[in-house]
Amino acid sequence: MKLQDADLEGTVPRYKGLDEISQWLDGRPEGGMVRYSRLALPFSEEVTMKTDETAAWTEFETAAEPDALGEDIRSVIRRLGEDPEREGLLKTPERVAASLRFLTSGYHQDVDKVLNGALYSVDYDEMVIVKDIELFSLCEHHLLPFFGRCHIAYVPHGKVVGLSKLPRLVEVFARRLQVQERLTNQIAETIMEKVNPQGVGVVIEAKHLCMVMRGVEKQNSVAVTAAMLGVFRDSQQTRDEFLSLVRGR
Ligand SMILES: [Zn+2]
Repeated sequence: MKLQDADLEGTVPRYKGLDEISQWLDGRPEGGMVRYSRLALPFSEEVTMKTDETAAWTEFETAAEPDALGEDIRSVIRRLGEDPEREGLLKTPERVAASLRFLTSGYHQDVDKVLNGALYSVDYDEMVIVKDIELFSLCEHHLLPFFGRCHIAYVPHGKVVGLSKLPRLVEVFARRLQVQERLTNQIAETIMEKVNPQGVGVVIEAKHLCMVMRGVEKQNSVAVTAAMLGVFRDSQQTRDEFLSLVRGR
């Protein structure tokens, strides 16, 4: 069963923290989405772009040539009642086109290439966890950003993946038009498929500008999604260990 937002309306109380999310997952081991209005975790202001992301964005902007997408943006600006020829807006269409190309560049990235050469055989079966991976994506309903943190854990089954590859893997799927729940599932399923662990757990906490700017949710509202596969689905103890490691900071 896949949970839809509508299934949760009215049935899920407001959750305050990962303890409650853990309990919620016990009843829905396949994962799903829950929104809560208070922060389970300190959502610090430190969420900033990493240096390499800034560099990549700049590359896209530098390479931008006047093109059809820029022309379309120019027409959007005109339809909004603005004058695309005024000084401040002259280069905006090409900049917007470049930023959209960057923010959707995940479509052109190959997961196998990203993970290439970073799978190692090990005799190790303790949980591997990478938490607080910064995440920036675009909601597919409004083309507005959602951003936050991704926490990934897996229990190896003879193989581990280089830790630095997990943030790259998150980017491959985040730089697309997304819904948070699908993004969470894609990350979990890809690790399951490529690393073949005993199980994988992925939790994403994110703020959606389309929610906070419209005022439909409180400013601090965070959407939490979880995907639990393998031992993370089957064993409450494994899930709890993951969530308590995420919480301990
Ligand atoms: Zn949206």
